[in-house]
This record gives sequence, C-alpha cells and structure tokens, in this order.
Amino acid sequence: MDCLFCKIVKGEIPCHKVYEDGNTLAFLDINPITKGHTVVIPKFHAETLLDLPDDLVAELFLAVKKITQNIKDKLNPDGFNIGINMRKVAGQAVDHLHIHILPRWQDDGGGSVHTIIHNPPKQSLEEILKEIRM
Ligand code: AMP
Ligand code: ZN
Repeated sequence: MDCLFCKIVKGEIPCHKVYEDGNTLAFLDINPITKGHTVVIPKFHAETLLDLPDDLVAELFLAVKKITQNIKDKLNPDGFNIGINMRKVAGQAVDHLHIHILPRWQDDGGGSVHTIIHNPPKQSLEEILKEIRM
C-alpha cells in the first residue's frame, strides 16, 4: 500500500521519532507550525478515527496524553491545540489517521478550534439535536 505514514512505521522513510510503543508511533511534523509540533499515529493503517478498530482507540489516546505531558514538561508551553483533520474537506492530506499535538505560547499569533470554520447552521439547536441525539 502506498501510504506515507505506513512507510514511516516500517522504517522505509525516516522520521524524527518522539515516542513509540507497541501500537503507536509519534514523530515531529516535517513542516512544524509551532515548536514541538508532533503527529501521533496508530501503527495500524486506518484512514480516519472511524476506521480504527475500537480496541486500538484507548491506547492511541493514552499515548497522545503521555506525549502531551512530555512536551509540556520539556518545552513548557502555555497550552495546546490537539486535533485531527478528517477527510480532505477538513484538511487531511495524509490518509492515515494522525493526531496533531500543537504546543501554544502566549501571543504566538495562533487561533483556536473556532477559527477553523465559520459556517453556523440555519436550524435551531433543538432541530439539530433531533437529528443527532444518540
Ligand atoms: P494533515 O493535513 O492533517 O493530513 O497533516 C499531515 C501532516 O503530515 C502535515 O502537517 C505534514 O507536514 C506532515 N508530514 C508529511 N510528510 C511527513 C513526513 N515525512 N514526516 C513527518 N511529517 C510529515
Ligand atoms: Zn498507512
């Protein structure tokens, strides 16, 4: 399969490895948008979170927590954005699930999750809730 991140998992393409465990790999983003920008991936090829088998989800997010704690301890940022671009429309360029860990500093000029999209719905919250309540 021609997947960039699978090639990194297999060691066919080098990376700046930050962390590895049995099912997880984390490495520095090759085009960092902030110091310490790290991507965390499952070694299992899943295009998106919805494609990741349930039994791998908790471990992946535990690794995200561990890596975030480590970056906090070592780089002392003031905060983080942690996020997933899911599908092309949302900015996913590499079709292998990855979680971006973005350390943030006071006055670094960045925005919040709220700055990604401004497309408020026409319907009321009640109407939307009827559609998506579980
Ligand atoms: P996304 O837009 O969420 O799919 O992000 C993909 C990310 O992977 C981008 O931030 C890229 O800079 C990063 N990336 C692409 N190729 C590599 C690579 N070989 N090593 C590390 N990061 C990479
Ligand atoms: Zn892959």
